[in-house]
Amino acid sequence: MMTNDLNKVLARIDQDLPDALDRLQDLLRIPSVSTDPAFASDVDRAAQWLVNDLNNLGFSARKDETPGHPMVVATGGAQDGAHLLFYGHYDVQPVDPLDLWNTDPFDPVIEDTANGKVIRARGASDDKGQLMTFVEACRAWLAVHGTLPVKLTFCMEGEEESGSPSLVPYLEANRDALRADLALICDTGLFDAQTPAITTMLRGLLGEEIIIHGPARDLHSGAFGGAAMNPARVLARILADLHDDQGRVTLPGFYDGVPELTDALRSQWDGLGFDADAFLGSVGLKHPAGEAGRSALEMIWSRPTCEINGMTAGYTGAGFKTVLPARASAKVSFRLVGSQNPQELRAAFRDFVRARIPADCRVEFIDHGASPASVMETSHPAFEAARAALSDEWPKPAAFVGAGGSIPIAGYFKSILGMDSMLIGFAKDDDQIHSPNEKYDLDSFHRGIRSWARIIDAVSRA
Ligand SMILES: [Zn+2]
Repeated sequence: MMTNDLNKVLARIDQDLPDALDRLQDLLRIPSVSTDPAFASDVDRAAQWLVNDLNNLGFSARKDETPGHPMVVATGGAQDGAHLLFYGHYDVQPVDPLDLWNTDPFDPVIEDTANGKVIRARGASDDKGQLMTFVEACRAWLAVHGTLPVKLTFCMEGEEESGSPSLVPYLEANRDALRADLALICDTGLFDAQTPAITTMLRGLLGEEIIIHGPARDLHSGAFGGAAMNPARVLARILADLHDDQGRVTLPGFYDGVPELTDALRSQWDGLGFDADAFLGSVGLKHPAGEAGRSALEMIWSRPTCEINGMTAGYTGAGFKTVLPARASAKVSFRLVGSQNPQELRAAFRDFVRARIPADCRVEFIDHGASPASVMETSHPAFEAARAALSDEWPKPAAFVGAGGSIPIAGYFKSILGMDSMLIGFAKDDDQIHSPNEKYDLDSFHRGIRSWARIIDAVSRA
């Protein structure tokens, strides 16, 4: 639904775009590299830049000090109605290797490319360009209407690119001040150049290392082979047993809490036209290796996995050695979905391994951490409202999508602040984030601002 209120805001955004670009370039000139202490004062300067900008817009903004870099927090907007928390980060990755940049990473330039105009600088996409899409959408609303139709809290981090050491303690200490109805996180990408996406499911991760000990020392296979149990043989049997010939994981209880896709989500994913051949072809493969009968998108977004990430045993150097090793080890990880319970699965995995250890061997386990999947409550009306708003702005309809990897902030908002997140971003696969010559398409920036203006409007009515 297009309202007159929104129309005016969109027109304002179009008219103000050159100034919005100037402001983004200002922010990009500040080398806020969070991991390198030499840039600490620059990180602080970027935080102050945002505080000043938000205060100028009429928000009540401040820098909250942490043991590391400051958190930029701001509040404003409507007194009542929907309350949104916006998250982005103003720190950036280091620029090394500098000699691979074609321009100064902290002197942003606007370039014409075969795919349209781009702004090129460190942070242009990740995440300064992205977070400014939201700030600019607010600016346009405020310029036209003097207020926002939603209540708004900003929480912008300066340590995202260096492991977020202060984030969890900060969220825990400021639960009440930060809790909102819903979080908006702008640090993800489009599905493709035409198709926006809201990430609504993020897989969790469970990591385990197993070390199987056999004979007291490495043995000569001529002297002991046949009589002595070989831990590499034990390990190979265990790892082979983890999948059946249909690609399913065989741990008892592994699929407890793994939901089937709803018909609505399945049809959205079918509509994306995902090219599995091209996806696997780009890494020299042809055949999806997951569960039989599942699509490649399901395999990477909505199905759990078990992967062997490393194996060691015996002699792996040049030439040959007839060793019968004293030990063998493997690192195994599981990507988790739905309500799979990491602790229960860790116990199930250890039971599975122990049951396969022969009398002459023993096993040692190392815990490499675990986090459950994040699954957003898309029945909250804001999700469909935001999806419709995005679909109005972009050439192709928006979809709820999954993310195969983890985005910890969404999990923290859920576990610490008790709220779901809408992960919406306008980055493209070729933005070269974290790499030399990072860029953000001006189309992403412009449509991104318009998208947020529409989403703010839609969520306020949802
Ligand atoms: Zn980022």
